[in-house]
Parts: sequence; C-alpha cells; structure tokens
Amino acid sequence: MSMKMFIYADNAATTKLDIGAFEAMKPYLLSEYGNASQPYSFSRKSREALKESRKIIAECINALPEEIYFTSGGTESDNWAIKGMFFSNRNKGIITSEIEHHAVLHSAKAVEKIGCDMVYLKPTTEGIITAEELSGAITGRTGLVSIMTANNEIGTIQPIKKLSQLAHKIGAVFHTDAVQAVGHIGIDVKDLGVDMLSASAHKFNGPKGVGFLYIKKGTPIIPYIDGGAQESSLRAGTENVALIVGMAYALQKNCRCMDANINKVRELEADFIGLLGINGNKGIIRNGGNDTLPGIVSLSFGNGDGEAMLHRLDLRGICISTGSACNSGKSTVSHVLRAIGLDEEYAKGTIRISFGKDNTKEEVRYIANEINKIVIDRG
Ligand SMILES: *Cc1c(COP(=O)(O)O)cnc(C)c1O
Repeated sequence: MSMKMFIYADNAATTKLDIGAFEAMKPYLLSEYGNASQPYSFSRKSREALKESRKIIAECINALPEEIYFTSGGTESDNWAIKGMFFSNRNKGIITSEIEHHAVLHSAKAVEKIGCDMVYLKPTTEGIITAEELSGAITGRTGLVSIMTANNEIGTIQPIKKLSQLAHKIGAVFHTDAVQAVGHIGIDVKDLGVDMLSASAHKFNGPKGVGFLYIKKGTPIIPYIDGGAQESSLRAGTENVALIVGMAYALQKNCRCMDANINKVRELEADFIGLLGINGNKGIIRNGGNDTLPGIVSLSFGNGDGEAMLHRLDLRGICISTGSACNSGKSTVSHVLRAIGLDEEYAKGTIRISFGKDNTKEEVRYIANEINKIVIDRG
C-alpha cells in the first residue's frame, strides 16, 4: 500500500555525485589514462586537465592556481596542515579547538604525544570560538592556529577573519578546516586571511577520495606524503586526474549556483523548523546558535535516544545522523556536544538533519511529520 520512500537528509556526511561531474570524469578513467607527469603527447590531455582544474578551484576560493595542492580528501588535508606544520618547526606550539573534526583533533593528539605543546580552545554554548578565547591562549611560541570554518555537527560558522588576524599578529600560521563550508557558502581565502584551508570534494557533490589543501605562497610547511615530485614536490603520488576533474566541475557548479542553493536550502530549513514547532518547546533544543551553515539542523530531545530515532527514521526511508556520523556506532556522547556544555541527557537525544539543494518541500514535510510522531509517541 504505502510507497517505499527514500529521503536523503545527511548531506553533511556526504553528498550525491553531480551527474555533470561524473560525465566530466569519464574520459580520464577510460581513454585519457596517461600519467600526467610523463612528457609525451599522449599525457597532454591529463596534464592540461590537471592545470585547468587547479585554475578553476583557485578561482572559486580567490587563490592562485599554484596555491592549490590536491590530496585524497579532507582527512589528508587536515593531517598535512597539522603534522606538516609541527614537523617544520617542533619548537612551536599549536592551538586548535575542542569542536574540530576528528581529522584535526586526532592529528593534534598525535603530535601532542610526540612533544607538541597543544592548546584546545573551548567554544561558547552556541559553539563559537571567540577572539577573546584565542587571545587568552596565544603566545609568542604559538606556531599554528587551526580553527574550522564551520562545524559539521551543529553547523556553527566561526569568526575566521578575526581569529586569523590574531594569529598573524604574533606571526603564527592560520589553518582552517573548511570542508563543510567550501561549495556551500562564499569562501575567499584573501578576505578570510587564512594561510591554509582544507576542502573535500564529496561534501560538495564531487567524488569521494579527493580534496585539496590551499597553502598560501611562502607558508613554511613540509610534505606529509613523501615520494615523487608531484604537486610542486609537496605532495607525492601520481595525480588522480579523473577525481580532480570531477572535483573542479562540482565546485565550479556549486559556486555558480551558490546564491540560489543557499536560498533554497534556507527555505527548507525554515519550513522544517516551523513544522516541528520547536519554538513551542516540546523539550527540543536546536544547537549551534544563530549563524549556522545552510541546511544543518542539530536537534536535541530531552530524554531522547538519538540512536533509536535514527533507526526509526531509517525504517521510514529517511537518512539522517546522530550527533556526528563519525560517532555513530559508538554510544559515547559526541565531543562537540560535550564541548558546548549540552546536558548528557540532551546530548544522547541528538540528531542531525542536513538538507541539500536536491531536497524538496515534500521531503521536509515528511521528515518533520515522522519526527513529530516520535515526539508524540514518547508522550
Ligand atoms: C567530512 C569532514 C572531514 C573529512 O573529509 P574526508 O574527505 O571525508 O576525509 C574533515 N573535516 C570536516 C569538517 C568534515 O566535515
């Protein structure tokens, strides 16, 4: 009787590959398989595609093409930024925050174990890392400050411009994990004043397993992956031309349609919040404050069970996540929710819905309806 529904509302975990990006990749997976580093004419297409992709990506974030370094994704870019800076100067300390993605946080823990002086900044209850907080921690011995552009669990957008200015005052390098932001909100590396920025293609409708690290010219970083002379001898390994072409296509498309996408997703988000009647207070909190990424809605239910809600929605054909996809399967409370000081009870009852440009009003209504049923069933 009932039609089998499928609604994807977990766009912060990954996004659907853009069909145009897929088509753009195909020739480089099949006929144009030449190694981009080889000098013969057969490799010219690969080489040119690489060059063109670098240029497209640079334009999208207002960087120079030679400041874009291709990597295997957000995780590698973050590892490189943290470990590469530590290994380039072991006498300097690093400041990051308690709400970073594990790619940054666990890289920080790794260098801390081998002697790096690490500081983890506390966010406000809304999830903001304030300039005051950074001011209080920064010293002449700080070599790197790494603060994410926007949080993947609760969506909070950070005051990166102010934070990077503070870092530069004492001569520290500033890195930002912009994996959730790139392709979704306007990113201008010059305006933000960042020296390094991580991005990942599969978070903006590109393929999985590819990303980039923007490194401003002159930033003192050493390679993280050693080997051949690819990527100006800073990131070795035969370039995955197909994935890189797909990434450039997807980013350019998202950047060209950005205003329309933002408007659409914001509208879906507002509809969703309205349908849930959160403001009427049914023991529901929305996390992340007022300045959040379009489409990311983190909800905490008093006495709720996020895991159980995820499974119940899954039975109804809806994909959402609990606090963070990386934390699913583990019953520990997410480090982000703990850092913003959320009650244990609410933290356990947290789900994240992340809408994307392909979601519809009908889908939003269906999800809100299913969540409302769960809330009513709980009494
Ligand atoms: C997804 C994500 C990453 C990891 O990127 P991958 O390409 O999946 O390795 C890092 N940081 C943030 C904020 C993310 O959302």
